[in-house]
Amino acid sequence: MTRTIVEPERRTPVIAEPDVLVVGGGAAGIAAACAAARGGARTMLVEAWGCLGGTLTLVTLGGFCGTHMVVDDERLGRVVGGLYLELEGRLAARDALLPPRRHGRILGVPYESASLKLVADEMVAAHGVRVLLHTGAVAAQTDGSRVTAVIVENKGGRAAIAPRVVIDASGDADVAARAGADFALGEEGTTQYASTMFRLGGVDTAVAGELTRPQIRELLERAVADGYPLPRTTTGVHVNPLEGVVHLNVTKLTNPDGEPFLLVDPEQLSEAERVGRQQVKLYEEVFRRYVPGFGRARVIDIGARVGVRETRLVRGDGVLTEAHVRGCVKPDDRIACSSWPLELHGKGRATTWEFLPDGEWYGLPWACLVVAGFDNLLVAGRNLSAEHAAQASARVAGPCVAMGEAAGTAAAMSLSAGGAVRSVAVEALQRNLRRAGAVLDPVAEPG
Ligand SMILES: Cc1cc2nc3c(=O)[nH]c(=O)nc-3n(C[C@H](O)[C@H](O)[C@H](O)COP(=O)(O)OP(=O)(O)OC[C@H]3O[C@@H](n4cnc5c(N)ncnc54)[C@H](O)[C@@H]3O)c2cc1C
Repeated sequence: MTRTIVEPERRTPVIAEPDVLVVGGGAAGIAAACAAARGGARTMLVEAWGCLGGTLTLVTLGGFCGTHMVVDDERLGRVVGGLYLELEGRLAARDALLPPRRHGRILGVPYESASLKLVADEMVAAHGVRVLLHTGAVAAQTDGSRVTAVIVENKGGRAAIAPRVVIDASGDADVAARAGADFALGEEGTTQYASTMFRLGGVDTAVAGELTRPQIRELLERAVADGYPLPRTTTGVHVNPLEGVVHLNVTKLTNPDGEPFLLVDPEQLSEAERVGRQQVKLYEEVFRRYVPGFGRARVIDIGARVGVRETRLVRGDGVLTEAHVRGCVKPDDRIACSSWPLELHGKGRATTWEFLPDGEWYGLPWACLVVAGFDNLLVAGRNLSAEHAAQASARVAGPCVAMGEAAGTAAAMSLSAGGAVRSVAVEALQRNLRRAGAVLDPVAEPG
């Protein structure tokens, strides 16, 4: 039994009473906050770290994924529009975005992560969102089925924010879990493996950028045969908008027994960070020795935090199931779309990619954002209500932005009913989303 102490009772100041509080400023949270504010809600966004972007900036990615469906060699189709296009446009204006790049049957849109920090600040400011950085949500107060306050901690101490609607975009469903919502931790407690992301500078990108995934795999397997204990050998080279820089998503963080880290456990999270950086060192050496174009490469950047693919998956009014994703179901209550494969980072040195048929997609149901048992609580992003394998497809940046846009739009719409999110008619929500440019019916276009 863990020893406990009793903290003295205290009076906690209420520092804000916004219409909509968004917790977490990642892909989903940025979009949720902008959409809520655009809908007329006085919106506040709290973020635990010192910048917005979450995985996009703190972990760093090679590019936005899940933005297009691949139809055939000539045709693509956008599956995400709306605020995602605003984000792209702002990055492009800073020359921090490259055209979509195909890697076999998937496609990514490379962006520069430092610029994304700047652009995210500009974007939330332009929409009139009040932002409080370095502020973590640590508890939730409820009155029956309503979340009445979210308790935050920051340099000023402990404070309460009392909103009418809460959107949990923390990635780990911190608010929902603390409010008492049901959730699953991956599949029977086993989540996807995490990765530490890094960038290498001094790369001959003309050579490195031409390497295919199978070629890289072969080279890395050669290193394994020579005795390098690489946990993963499948990866692509993500060429960055900066000259001579590539981004690599190649580490795979495991406990000594080979199991993934459970990243809502503080000890595990801390150890994962250490293991991740050790792996970066190992891969730097291997890439320099074995992979053409990398002979003079050096690590120039390691994600500020470990990249977490999956922790708590909230139980919603509906659950995005594996069968739904595989069946490319297009439900009438869809609020976003995805055509990303089931990208499973499980055991072994390979990553499993299970593709939807070319030109196919599925719709994300509104019910997957509505937290079961709560009147004024929504989720958006990688902590949506989904089965483990379904989340492996829905969790990439494109669908996360689209989910956030839907949650924020709905939250603003619910205010006329006191923040009761189930009062929102899904047809009206879809009309508002379409009007804002969201894609709910992807079409093939010349790519
Ligand atoms: C290693 C890795 C590689 C990936 N590669 C790609 C890729 O190449 N392309 C792609 O599109 N997607 C990729 N993804 C997936 C994708 O980027 C993320 O799943 C997606 O960006 C998640 O967005 P989110 O907003 O749901 O969550 P997050 O990005 O996790 O954002 C959550 C935010 O909430 C904040 N937060 C957390 N708890 C609290 C709290 N209690 N209080 C306040 N704030 C809090 C966090 O600091 C963070 O800013 C990758 C993911 C990982 C882990």
